[in-house]
Amino acid sequence: MKSGLCRYGPRIVVRSIRPIKQGEEVCITYTDLLQPKELRHSDLWSKYRFICCCKRCSAYPEMYVDHILCDTTFLNNEDLNSDRRHLRDMEIEEPADILDQAVTEYLSTGDTEACRSYIENMLTKCFRNEWPQLAESSQTRCKLQPLHFVSLKAFIMLASIYRTQACELETSNHSEEGIPEVFDLNRAMAAYSLLLAGATHHLFLFEPSLIVTTALFWINAGESFLVLVRSLICSPEIKWVNLSEFNIIFCNGRSIMTCIDGSSLPCNEFQSTSLRFLDCVLRISSKVWLFMVSGIQCLTDVKSPIDFSCLGKKNVSHQILVREGVAAGPCHFGNEECVCIGCKCEAEVHAEEGIKNLYQLAIHCLVYGGYLSTICYGCQSYWINHVRKLLCGEAWS
Ligand SMILES: [Zn+2]
Ligand SMILES: [Zn+2]
Ligand SMILES: [Zn+2]
Repeated sequence: MKSGLCRYGPRIVVRSIRPIKQGEEVCITYTDLLQPKELRHSDLWSKYRFICCCKRCSAYPEMYVDHILCDTTFLNNEDLNSDRRHLRDMEIEEPADILDQAVTEYLSTGDTEACRSYIENMLTKCFRNEWPQLAESSQTRCKLQPLHFVSLKAFIMLASIYRTQACELETSNHSEEGIPEVFDLNRAMAAYSLLLAGATHHLFLFEPSLIVTTALFWINAGESFLVLVRSLICSPEIKWVNLSEFNIIFCNGRSIMTCIDGSSLPCNEFQSTSLRFLDCVLRISSKVWLFMVSGIQCLTDVKSPIDFSCLGKKNVSHQILVREGVAAGPCHFGNEECVCIGCKCEAEVHAEEGIKNLYQLAIHCLVYGGYLSTICYGCQSYWINHVRKLLCGEAWS
């Protein structure tokens, strides 16, 4: 760009998470990437009148992400053939409609309770394969899984409904002590937020363009867990984090962007950072997940908010690097000297074990979300400042 063009008005900074070859077409997103192909295309056509033929849209057979966002059959151990696929699209119509209807009704009536139970009942039945189908094909049942786009949409909706309900209850009650009901509402909100982050992250490992959404969902999950910790103990004796250490991680996000051109070190850095945090989040969440979902019927069938290997794809952490054509180098993860800075915060929380775990989960989600967001937006964005404030405890005052 000629320097003269930058002198007036707002500046637009374009960042890429992978190298761009000379002459290569640069594409941007016009639509919600967590939607399956059919919905993206109808969205694009109705709003912009074009048919997208990007790599993801034109892949045949369809990419894993588009497959899993729609899939309702593979848990039944049946082969996917074209007949089944057609059936698959029919099967899901009803739950998707129910979700849309619940949202529309909520927007007109503001009845959070009705909307919540409507969506949760639907999810419970679908996760358990108890959703009756159209009479003529009564032997087919709808089996949803947590990575289905209807599930993801439902988690977004439910997390926000629980948050609204917790806030309403909190403001209507003026006592100084923590209210158990508020805690339960916040617990549900945090459970859905974590599941949403974990599920989206799993998809991101196959589809790097989901990085923006993934970063945001991790940050939301981290914030939810902080809210949860705060509703458990009114004045948590938490020593807030010393940011200087975290800034190393946050700034590394930036160096990845500039060095991802095939020199292997930053990719190794990304890989090891990513693996290290995910490993921690998996470990901590496995300790608290049963507690998080107790009483929430539709989530008791979800075994882990992070590990979706039961859905058919295992050890996907290296996928993103392999796909971008970067050889996966030696991984720093597992090195004894490599101490997770999220885990270092453990020593600074004076609380019982359970609360400690929730707090640690919050820190890990925030740091990792912040890390991903610096890759997308650099280290001075709104989101990274938001994360910094949360980690320093400023947002509480
Ligand atoms: Zn496309
Ligand atoms: Zn920086
Ligand atoms: Zn850790």
